[in-house]
Order: sequence, then C-alpha cells, then structure tokens
Amino acid sequence: MKKRIKKVGCIFLSAVILLIFSVHSSAQEAMVYASHSVSTWHSDDAIIGYWDRPIRVYCEGMSQNGLRTANLQSYATGGFSLWQSHLGISVSQVSSWSASNVVLRAVDTTTASNLGVDPGVGHGYTRLLFDDDDSTEDNMTAVDIVSYRGTPKYVYEIYGSVVIYLISNGVFTSTDFWQPIAFHEISHALGYYGHCFHQAHLMNATIADYGVETLSNGGSGTDTEVPHLKQIYDYYT
Ligand SMILES: [Zn+2]
Ligand SMILES: [Zn+2]
Repeated sequence: MKKRIKKVGCIFLSAVILLIFSVHSSAQEAMVYASHSVSTWHSDDAIIGYWDRPIRVYCEGMSQNGLRTANLQSYATGGFSLWQSHLGISVSQVSSWSASNVVLRAVDTTTASNLGVDPGVGHGYTRLLFDDDDSTEDNMTAVDIVSYRGTPKYVYEIYGSVVIYLISNGVFTSTDFWQPIAFHEISHALGYYGHCFHQAHLMNATIADYGVETLSNGGSGTDTEVPHLKQIYDYYT
C-alpha cells in the first residue's frame, strides 16, 4: 500500500510552538464524500481530532523553575480545565508514564534533540505518535471527512500516546512564561490542529509572545476557538 507521511507544522516569530502530525493519506483517500457540514472553522489546518475515552495525564518535569513536575501538574490541571466543560472530556492525572495516554514532559534542548525533536521548533511541541509500521497499532484513526463551505476537513479519533514537550533553553524560568505555552499545546493534544492568526487567541502560533491563557468563545457557529473543537466533540462523542 502506498503511504505518505504528512507533516503539518507552524512557524513563528520569537517564540515557537509546533505541532507535528502524521497520517496515512491512504485512509483519507479511501473516504471521498463529506458526511455532513460543520458550521465554523478556526484553524489554518484541515485536520481536527477528538478523544472519546478518558484522558490520563502524566507529568514529568525537570529541575528548573517553571518546569518542575509540580509546575507541569498545575499547567495540566489548568489547560485541560479550559476545555473540559465544553468538550465533556474526562481528565485525570496519573503517577506513571505507563498508566497515561498523554504525557506532559519538560526537556532540555539536548534531550529534545536526542528524542528526535528539533529544538529549533521553539518552546513547545506536541507529538501525536504515529507508527508507520502496519504491524503495530497506530495512535489515531481517520474517522470522517466533513465539509466546511465546500472544502473537506479531516476528522481523526485520537486514542493515545500523545507526548507534549516543553523545551527549555535554560533562559525562561517563570510560570507566567510556560503556562500559556502548556495550555496551547494541551489544546493541540485534544485535537486542535493548526493555528489561528489572532494575537489575543490561545491558538495563535506565537502564544509565548502574548501570554494568552483563555479561549475565545463567541458561541456555537461563531469563528472562535471553542466552537471550532466543540462541534467535533458534540458530533462524535
Ligand atoms: Zn501550536
Ligand atoms: Zn483566533
């Protein structure tokens, strides 16, 4: 079977947050018709994901102010709470990597590099692990194609092994700096692919420059962040 790996990234200014995403394009090609239309779209990416199972988060910090395990646990609580009531998700924190399906991990640039994460991506990076080997289970699956104003949008169910990296260059040590980045990356991990272009929005790619810690929400059908992701959870979960 012919396969292609698609990578979707974001580029930035002084601060950088990257989401890398890989899919089997063959799965997309297999589904030609949009099942229904969505009423809004607030991302520069044509992909969106959702969780339909309890999310179990493990936090692994490092010995740096702002990125200690207790800091990360606080960011995880706050970041998932932003979305929890809107999406109806169940989120808990667990005490081991093996019990988790989302890991929030702080690493230095050397460790990031060793893990195959280019430190050049900036301060945050969300990896939805995808194994291209058919002998093992993938971590996301193509579910549907929906239509937004006549253009296709690709819906995936995410079911595990998402790793969020907060990448330290040793310069930034305040929780004020890291928390918005963690909130932004957690939103990616919940299925919010891509970015928007509003400086005052959490899903702007240069979030670290503006420190936004809230979601825009004009209600159902409006071009804001909450309805963008909520419409998918409402329909599929
Ligand atoms: Zn991002
Ligand atoms: Zn926006």
